[in-house]
Formats: sequence, C-alpha cells, structure tokens
Amino acid sequence: MRRQPLTDTITQLTRMRIMNAYLVREDDGLTLVDTMMAGSAAGLLAAAAASMNAPIRRIALTHGHGDHAGSLDALRAKLGSDVEVLAPERDARIMAGDRSLEAGEGSRRLKGSWPKVAAKPDRLLSDGDRVGSLRVVASPGHTPGHVAFLDLRDNALICGDALHTLGGTTVAGVRNLRFPFVTMATWDPDRAADSARELRALQPTLLAPGHGRALREPLAAIDRALERTTTDTRSPARLGGAKSS
Ligand SMILES: [Zn+2]
Repeated sequence: MRRQPLTDTITQLTRMRIMNAYLVREDDGLTLVDTMMAGSAAGLLAAAAASMNAPIRRIALTHGHGDHAGSLDALRAKLGSDVEVLAPERDARIMAGDRSLEAGEGSRRLKGSWPKVAAKPDRLLSDGDRVGSLRVVASPGHTPGHVAFLDLRDNALICGDALHTLGGTTVAGVRNLRFPFVTMATWDPDRAADSARELRALQPTLLAPGHGRALREPLAAIDRALERTTTDTRSPARLGGAKSS
C-alpha cells in the first residue's frame, strides 16, 4: 500500500497503482474515506498506523461500488463498533441489496460491482452533512447516491469517482480508453457531468480522486475534462459508443 501525504490533514493510500482511499486527520483521530476492494483491510489499517499514528474513528464512503466499499465489512469486524460507518443514504439502500430505482431516476440500470455489504451504516449521508471537517457534497451520476467530501479547512476535494485522473483527468461517463473502468461503471453520464460542474464550482484547491494521482490547483484540468462532457456524453456518437460497451 503506497502512502502519500497530500496536505497537512489528508494522506492518499494507493493499492495496485489504480485504487485510492484517503486518511483525513481530525482532532479525535482519523476518518478513512473509502475502503478499496475486498482484501484491503489489513493494508489500510497498517497504513493508518504507520502514516498518521492515530486511530481510525470513522469510515465514510463516497459510493457503494466494490472497489470503494469492498473492505468495509472486514474493517468493521477488526475495528468493532467503536468506529462509525457513514454511507450515502441512496447508495446504502443498494448496498443492502435493494437495486430498485426511485421515481425520477429514469430507467438506466445500475452499473459496476455492488457487493452486498453487511455493515449497517451508523449514519446516512446527505448533501450538506458534516463528517468532521468534511462537508458532504451530493454528486450523483456515477452512482445514484454518489457523494464527494470537501475539506473545509483548505478546500481540498475528495471526489470519489465523480472524476478520475488515470489516463488524463476525466469526468465519470466520458470515454477514456486508457482507463475505461470508471466510465463503464457509471450509471448516468449526464447526471455525472452536471455533478462534475457543481464540484468545479466549489473551486477545490486539490482534487483527490478514487483512481489516479491527486491534482493540486486542479481547475484548469477539470475545465478541460468538462469540455469533453459536452462532446463525449451528449452527442449521438457517444450514445452509439455507449451501446457497444
Ligand atoms: Zn465507482
């Protein structure tokens, strides 16, 4: 597990070069954002002990896909009920096994891996909630309930899979041949593009994605990625491409 301090309060953890989780320092200990795929719990705990020398107090998920929620049950088993589990309200229902869509969500089917998660969240997250110093920012599209976390101390943004930076900064749902997996797993590209625009409007000083390296002063890179949402996700050509994937 690779550890990279990004700010005074955020450390990026990376597994297999493609999958990130984040440790966020608070006064009472650490918040772990996302848990990677199944089999990552021991590595995440070792990384937390080695890098920040503080206990994990809470685990917050950006969304319920297997490469973000996959080690949640194992972490809960190791850390016990002292650790608080927080998950986006909408995705928590899917994680519990209910894949039905709600009114207003259209007819798109869920994509990506959704392992059934036994751990019941202690708190369900909605837009504007606080998790320590982090503000929950609803950013649906990649999944119906996807959220990002904005660190209010320095405006660093942990963006989950709303955007990624492998093979170039890319909005979820936009084609990226070098790392196609985030887009393949994206539920609604148009909603994802709208969410990316809203995240950009927060003017983050740092973009910390679920996949790929973190970007400092990321606005120009996000703007370039956003330009591709209008051409790639809404044109007839993109719709043709979506059918074949
Ligand atoms: Zn995902």
